[in-house]
Formats: sequence, C-alpha cells, structure tokens
Amino acid sequence: MRILKYPHPALRHKSRPIVRIDAEFRKTVREMFELMHQERGIGLAANQVGLPYRFFIMNLAASIEGVNKEFVFINPVIKKRNGSEVLEEGCLSLPDIFGEVRRPERIVVSAYDMAGDEFTYELSGLHARAVQHEYDHLDGVVFTDRLGPTGKLAVREALEDLTVEFEGDRALGRFADDETIQQELAELERLRT
Ligand code: ZN
Repeated sequence: MRILKYPHPALRHKSRPIVRIDAEFRKTVREMFELMHQERGIGLAANQVGLPYRFFIMNLAASIEGVNKEFVFINPVIKKRNGSEVLEEGCLSLPDIFGEVRRPERIVVSAYDMAGDEFTYELSGLHARAVQHEYDHLDGVVFTDRLGPTGKLAVREALEDLTVEFEGDRALGRFADDETIQQELAELERLRT
C-alpha cells in the first residue's frame, strides 16, 4: 500500500458505498492508519491508496471528546452544511502544496463505524474541515479544485511539477496506463460495492 499522488487517476474516481465489513477490510483500514501516521497526516481517503471505496480514516490531535482517537467514516453522508470559513489545507496526495479553501464552517455528518453501527456528528472547526476534505476525495475532488482564481494560479506550477513526476514514473513502468488503472478500479469496485 502506498499513498498515490496527484494526478493519479484513482484520485478522480467517484466511489460507491461498500456493502461489507470483513477481516480483509479491517486489515486494509489498519494499514491505512499506519501509512497515515508515518506520513503525519490527519486524514486519508480510500482512493488515496487506490481503493475505489466510500470510506476515509481520520485521527485528529484533539477529538470531539478531547482525546486522541482514530475515526473511520464508512459510507459517509454530509447532511447539513452551515456558515462559511476560509482555512489553509494541504493533502498527502499533493505534497508541499497548500492553499486557502472556503468551505462551510459547520456540518452534520453520518457514517458507519467498523462495527457497522451508524453514527452522526455535528462538527465545526478542524473536524468539519477535515471531514469535508476527505469526503471530497470520495467524489474524486482534491482541495486545489476548490481554490479561487488567485489560489489556483499560485499552485499551478507545483501541480504541473507533480504531473511531470507522475508521467516520468509511469514511463518507468511504476504505473499502468489510464485504461488499465480504470479497469483495476472497476474490478476492485465489483468486489466490495
Ligand atoms: Zn487529501
């Protein structure tokens, strides 16, 4: 398992809900947490590791209860959005790129946990921000898509550099062609959604 970088096609995949939580899924989630901790991230969506499934993981420094805690959001749905706030974001799939993104300030989100139980959180601040960022990933959206014109201009060169790097890696055989990647995603999707 590795974290895929922009512009890997998996990051543009719109994921479908998963239908089963089994031992293999639990193992996948464990691996994702390890990877995320290594990279010092606070959130990681399934398609960032090439999995076309509708879930993401999170570990914020301070949880809703005020203690460190790992969260898994399976088949999340954002049910309410309120307010508006600009905050700086970054992403493990877009290394060293940061930008100010305007998003709703407060949200209500429901999802399923690893036990298959549904939960609902009212979130604000960093929690709301992180959930919305990860949720976007599941729809194939990265935070730079949401930058304003000035922000987009500021990151343009860095995105081009990542594209050059990705195509270079692909030329070395580290990634398949787009068609093969799409077929692999479709195959994985058939297994679990
Ligand atoms: Zn991200």
